[in-house]
Order: sequence, then C-alpha cells, then structure tokens
Amino acid sequence: MRILLIEDEAGIADFVSRGLREAGYAVDVADDGPSGLESALAADFDLVLLDIMLPGMDGITLLRRLREKRRRFPVLLLTARDAVEDRVRGLDSGADDYLVKPFAFPELLARVRALLRRPAEGAEPVIRVGRYELDPAKKEVRREGDLIDLSAREYGILEYLMRGEGRTLTREQIEDHVWNFDSSPGSNVVDVYIGYLRKKLDRPAEESLIRTVRGIGYRVEAPGDR
Ligand code: CA
Repeated sequence: MRILLIEDEAGIADFVSRGLREAGYAVDVADDGPSGLESALAADFDLVLLDIMLPGMDGITLLRRLREKRRRFPVLLLTARDAVEDRVRGLDSGADDYLVKPFAFPELLARVRALLRRPAEGAEPVIRVGRYELDPAKKEVRREGDLIDLSAREYGILEYLMRGEGRTLTREQIEDHVWNFDSSPGSNVVDVYIGYLRKKLDRPAEESLIRTVRGIGYRVEAPGDR
C-alpha cells in the first residue's frame, strides 16, 4: 500500500512518515501544495494524507484539483483544531475523513486502515475485453488507451454487452435494458445503434468487437477468443 503525505511541518511529516513506514506502508512525502499535487497526479497512490495549510496551494484547492482529474483515492485531511469551516469545505470537496491536530499516531493509523478497507467512491472495476476498456465510473470507453467518443445510448448498449461478455443478448434484451418505457424504439433501432458502435469501435480489416448472432442478437467477444 502506497501513501502520499502532503505536510509542510517537518516535525509532523517526519513523525507520521516514520510511523507509517514502520507499520509497513510505502510513504512519499511532499512539503508544499504544488509538489504535493504533482506527486499525487504522477503515481497511483492508495491514500493521501493532506494538510490544509500548505505553502503554494492550500489543501482544499489541491483536493479539488485531484477530484477534477478524477483521482479517486481516499483522502484524509489533517486539520487544525479550530478550523471547523475548513473541515466542512474539505469534506464537501471530496475528502473522505479528517483528523484534528495534534493527534496520536495510533488514531491516525486506525483511520488509515479504515480508509484503505473502504473502496474508493465510484471505483467500479474497469471492464476489459480485448483491446477495449470500459470504465463504468467515468462512462468512458478506450481502445488501446485512446478515448472513443460515444453517445449516451451507444455507451449504454456497449456497457450492457461488455458486462455480458461471451453471452448472446437478444435485441429485446438490449432494448429493454437501454430504452425506458416512454421511448420505445422502432423495430430495427438496436441494429442501427450496433452499426454506429461498430463504426466507432472497429478498425478496417479487423473482426468486430460486437459479433452478430444470426436470428438472435449480439455478443461481445475479444476477437482472439473466438
Ligand atoms: Ca501546514
């Protein structure tokens, strides 16, 4: 487990990082806002411990930037005793918990353990099929890392098919799943959308990610698995 500590008070940084290392965590330390943000964006941390009063950029601003960039790791704020407003702003900005200074190390450790057990909000696992990756939390689809621009309906159909990888889904199932009762689609609308999806997803001379199962419906399968 890798933890980033962003704290400008050398005494606290030293005491916390030493304790966490002794408890078996890998710890990186940043001592101002900008370098903290840079570190947080550069590596895949499991948790960030974030002081609010920091030189260069305060912790709340830093936290907002992280959440804007969709970094979802848990963040534990380290705050001063009287800064109730800061704590509220911090939680509103996407912090998971806070700890008031001065704190006892065992309490910090207990909070850290609790946060590492709790899955990060919205961190639904990414679905991978062949070259394609679908991230349900971000509603994004990538092919070998390149973002593919899909409409909401195209995305909905693809997510349903990818979640059922290897399973043939009928046109009726796809309709029921993707359209609500108020907007009942026409007879061949699923086929039309599958056509749009193939145009966006597939490259010429490649087998389509979405396979037609004649007379039944469609199935997603990595081309190599056929
Ligand atoms: Ca500080």
